Amino acid sequence: MKLSSRVLNLAPSATLGMKARAKVLQDQGVKIVSLSAGEPDFETPACIIQAAHQALDRGVSRYTGVRGTDALIAAMRLKFKRDQKVDYVANQVLSSVGAKSSLSLAIDACLEPGDEAIILKPYWVSYPELVKLAGAEPIFAKPNLESIKQAITPKTRAIFLNSPNNPDGSVLGESFLRGLMNLLEGSEIWVISDEIYEHLVFDGVKHISPASFSKDAYDRTLVISGVSKGYAMTGWRVGIAGGPEKLVSAMAKLQEQRYTCIPAICQAAAVYALNEPPELKAEIERMRAAYEMRRNRFLEAILKIDGLSCEKPQGAFYAMVDFSRRYADDQDLANRLLGEAHVATVAGTPFGAPGFLRIGLAASLEEILEGVQKISAFLGKL
Ligand code: PMP
Ligand code: GLU
Repeated sequence: MKLSSRVLNLAPSATLGMKARAKVLQDQGVKIVSLSAGEPDFETPACIIQAAHQALDRGVSRYTGVRGTDALIAAMRLKFKRDQKVDYVANQVLSSVGAKSSLSLAIDACLEPGDEAIILKPYWVSYPELVKLAGAEPIFAKPNLESIKQAITPKTRAIFLNSPNNPDGSVLGESFLRGLMNLLEGSEIWVISDEIYEHLVFDGVKHISPASFSKDAYDRTLVISGVSKGYAMTGWRVGIAGGPEKLVSAMAKLQEQRYTCIPAICQAAAVYALNEPPELKAEIERMRAAYEMRRNRFLEAILKIDGLSCEKPQGAFYAMVDFSRRYADDQDLANRLLGEAHVATVAGTPFGAPGFLRIGLAASLEEILEGVQKISAFLGKL
């Protein structure tokens, strides 16, 4: 019996793969310094968990509408108004099983075989794979207008933006974003703006969404976000999308046939979180400030190692370190660091950045500094 060529050609997730490999060693009793994680090391704030308990006690246990409960629809609309500065009506929002499924529904709703989608480097590992799964072709560009202009062809149907960025923590500036939206004006190109790290920005930077720039930008931009990163709720699996009615309703139609809706109890927790009451706001800021402090201390330590370089991340909880002057093959380096130095990182190649390693800063400061020390000792022995 055969499997489909679609699934046979799909690469496994490099980020989740590293997490699984580190777990195999941990289960054997090996102590791993885990800097591969793409999820907060903080627990979900207690006030969110309490809101979920209360919902269970009220007997929340049924299917809901495809887009979400009325309360979740209201919370998504409020959130997009507050943070993205855009007004959406109820049929312009949709909750899904994590931002990952918001993305895959969007991709399936707007791309078909023969289409092209532009992805900016470095990129989160799942974008090209999900685009290929839809039969379309990922076209890679650098995050500057010249490179994007060159990548656009009559087949271009979408461009992905991810700011703050996984894997390098960069933030797309307002002038670049405005220039890009001007460039796209009047075209047939959707903008899929993955803003999942929107809460995690440093150095006083403010998050902005390109959806807010103009009528044309509003009509072509799908904003994707969720509860995983800013609220430390990865396991609750709630992603949210807001954008043009035509695209969001197409995604809702796909969701209706595939998954119906997301778990009602997770929706109740998400309603509480997206409304950001003051006690939660304080927790969000505490976590954000911790990532910023870790970034500062990590950079100080890693840049002391001869031959390594790293752009200063302005958001998210990752840093992309250039190891190419010390070790040519990043995949081999990540494997050896795991196996020999017991430090888990993720190779840069699956993010479109050969020669680099992605170091996750969603770990305690002690672990981060221990990881840097082990990396330094490993390189010293080569
Ligand atoms: N987009 C980016 C850039 C991410 O790093 C992640 C993290 N896995 C996601 C989307 C998906 O997040 P989730 O499915 O946990 O909401
Ligand atoms: N986004 C995270 C990461 O890049 C979580 C794992 C995943 O979904 O890829 O590590």
